[in-house]
Amino acid sequence: MIPLRRNIKEMAGYVPGYQPADAAAYIKLNTNENPYPPSPRVLEAIMAEAGEGLRRYPDAASRAPLEAAARLYDFPPDWIVMANGSDELLNNLIRAFAAEGEEIAYVHPSYSYYATLAEIQGARVRTFGLTARLELDDFPARYEGKLFFLTNPNAPLGFCFPREFIEELAGRVTGMLVIDEAYADFAEEHSLDLVRRHENVVVTRTFSKSYSLAGMRLGLAIARPEVIAALNKIRDHYNLDRLAQVAAAAALRDQDYFRGCVENIRATREWFSNALRELGYEVIPSQANFVFASSPDRNGERVYQGLFDRNILVRYFTDPLLAHGVRITIGTREEMEKTVEALRDIR
Ligand code: PMP
Repeated sequence: MIPLRRNIKEMAGYVPGYQPADAAAYIKLNTNENPYPPSPRVLEAIMAEAGEGLRRYPDAASRAPLEAAARLYDFPPDWIVMANGSDELLNNLIRAFAAEGEEIAYVHPSYSYYATLAEIQGARVRTFGLTARLELDDFPARYEGKLFFLTNPNAPLGFCFPREFIEELAGRVTGMLVIDEAYADFAEEHSLDLVRRHENVVVTRTFSKSYSLAGMRLGLAIARPEVIAALNKIRDHYNLDRLAQVAAAAALRDQDYFRGCVENIRATREWFSNALRELGYEVIPSQANFVFASSPDRNGERVYQGLFDRNILVRYFTDPLLAHGVRITIGTREEMEKTVEALRDIR
């Protein structure tokens, strides 16, 4: 028998969203990707970098994208760390703050990868539920775990917690409050300013959704320099390859293109949410690039299967808390019109 650590032997491992072998055969609305291509500037930057220089290591400090991010978000560069997807940051935050046997927590339902990362580390996991009004249920006046992950906007439900509540949470959490803002670019509000006021707040962002760069694996975190210094000690020293670095810098600099994509997706989200309601679906008002919707018969798997049979991929959940609905990524207006047609068909 190979001498595996007990928790690795016992853990199931994370299963990412289904990737069909032939993605082009589907309208793919199951992993919250962006329906628009990355900015043309990003593609130009990647093409220019993809030459003989690839034999050299990349800049270990990722200075070009770091400086672009510092300018955009108005934080000094030592308040920011770049990463190979925001998943890398979530992993490194657990490694930095929660030793084996110590506790981390997150909201259920939200991003279940936190639990997998905690299992790898051997940290204990606690979850806090939601009330029917989508408020945190039974969250203590003082939470003493090492990390509390707040996915905001929530995934897979798409709603945001009120800002005053998040600020209050920063005081109630004695460990680190990690605000996972993977979808914040599609929302009305974000929490970056809390980083300036609370030393225990970390905000994570991804380029996978609003910047159309899921395939490049790019994310960033903003926090106090002491926190960023710790995350820099832990990360792979060359965590961003050369192509990812130029892509990230170009994406952050082309804000006009970025805003155009985000505005289109938000407008389509509102149109699609209303179309779903007209079909009798219950739709949680979304601040993200997806909606969570329940059919009148409250059977997510049936809706998933009906759409799958029509070459449209969405996400359903076996978790009893979520089995009544499906999560549908917002694609182009045309893709969503086809989805509405298909839903009418399978009613
Ligand atoms: N947080 C949340 C809430 C997500 O849904 C995702 C995407 N699955 C991530 C983080 C990870 O994103 P990335 O592609 O940047 O690793």
